[in-house]
Amino acid sequence: MTGRRPPHGPQAPRKPSTELIDHPYRPPGGFESPQPAVYKASTVFFPDTTALRNRQWKDKSGYTYGLHGTPTTFTLEERIATLEGGTDCLLVGSGLAAIALVNASLLKGGDEVLLPANVYGPSRELAEHELAQWGITHRLYDPMDVAAFEAMLSPATKLVWVEAPGSVTMEFPDLAGLLRTCRARGITTALDNTWGAGLAFCGFDLDGQGLGADIVMQALTKYPSGGGDVLMGSLVTRDRALHLRLKMTHMRLGLHVAGNDTELVLRSLPTLPLRYAEQDRSARVLAQWLAARPEVAEVRHPALPGAPGHAQWASLCTQAAGLFSITFAAGITPARGRAFVDALRRFRIGYSWGGPVSLAVPYELKPRAGLPQGGHLVRLAIGLEDTEDLRADLEQALAVLAG
Ligand SMILES: *Cc1c(COP(=O)(O)O)cnc(C)c1O
Repeated sequence: MTGRRPPHGPQAPRKPSTELIDHPYRPPGGFESPQPAVYKASTVFFPDTTALRNRQWKDKSGYTYGLHGTPTTFTLEERIATLEGGTDCLLVGSGLAAIALVNASLLKGGDEVLLPANVYGPSRELAEHELAQWGITHRLYDPMDVAAFEAMLSPATKLVWVEAPGSVTMEFPDLAGLLRTCRARGITTALDNTWGAGLAFCGFDLDGQGLGADIVMQALTKYPSGGGDVLMGSLVTRDRALHLRLKMTHMRLGLHVAGNDTELVLRSLPTLPLRYAEQDRSARVLAQWLAARPEVAEVRHPALPGAPGHAQWASLCTQAAGLFSITFAAGITPARGRAFVDALRRFRIGYSWGGPVSLAVPYELKPRAGLPQGGHLVRLAIGLEDTEDLRADLEQALAVLAG
């Protein structure tokens, strides 16, 4: 009868305030089920003072404090590290926080960071505001021109961010060319791999010879969560020293993720490849249908021949995220583009992607260095609804646009 407390004797004084906390019952060990348990902690108990004095939080050999990990967060870290093809993983409360952690950990006053001109917008804003305030400069490079990128590198360049494709304008760069150029000069590289989700290509090994980024970041918010209900970011590395440098900053900034959110991502991970493949299939059907419509000038989906960087995509990937942008035929104003989005019924208006619900967002892009096109477009993120229902929704909204 392990773990069973002896019954109260008739005279035993009841001490509910203690007994509700320090109850002698212990559930039996040996419990296993498909999903790992949700552990939540700030305090973690040490068995004795020796264990307290010998606490070790830099690896996963033990537990010290909730901020430094629980069995639940260790489990997700290990699975994401494996997904990305790396060895170590750090989790933070959003994809943007993961980007900020890399910058805060690796850059100091006087350094320069290079960002692709089509970079995830809030990453550019972080560079324009906080990084500038800390004396860190940034420049935007044209991700489609490796030679021009190479000419921008200088001894002050300490970090280069790469992204494939740009998540609004969808140009797929020569990732291997960009990363090879940085590696030849010993410049640290970080890949925003949210679009690829660890499935479309391996961010650490583009060529089968280990050519890749030093840090692979992902907004787990998107595909790995898959529910549109969790915010989380990951940083995966293959180099232990680089991991520890990021981890020290992670600890000193007090970053962490909550057990319940971690559980939601763990629960979604087994279906990640299925969801990614299905959204890819459905998105390509819709992208091809839209490409044939007279109202649409251009469909920017890297798997479509003629899309910017299609050859680069084809040389690296067979899969793609269920994400693409459309531009409109001449004469269709931004206001009519917005009317098209407002007319959609099954597509909802909202940011993010990788969830069950299809989403549409209109953008009006200012021309900027390395991205001279500018103009207005609508980005569509394909969810898990029936493809034919989505096509019919697009058709009725295009009719509104025409009328
Ligand atoms: C969403 C996204 C991010 C940021 O993720 P959040 O969890 O929303 O902060 C970063 N990069 C890309 C490409 C994204 O799509």
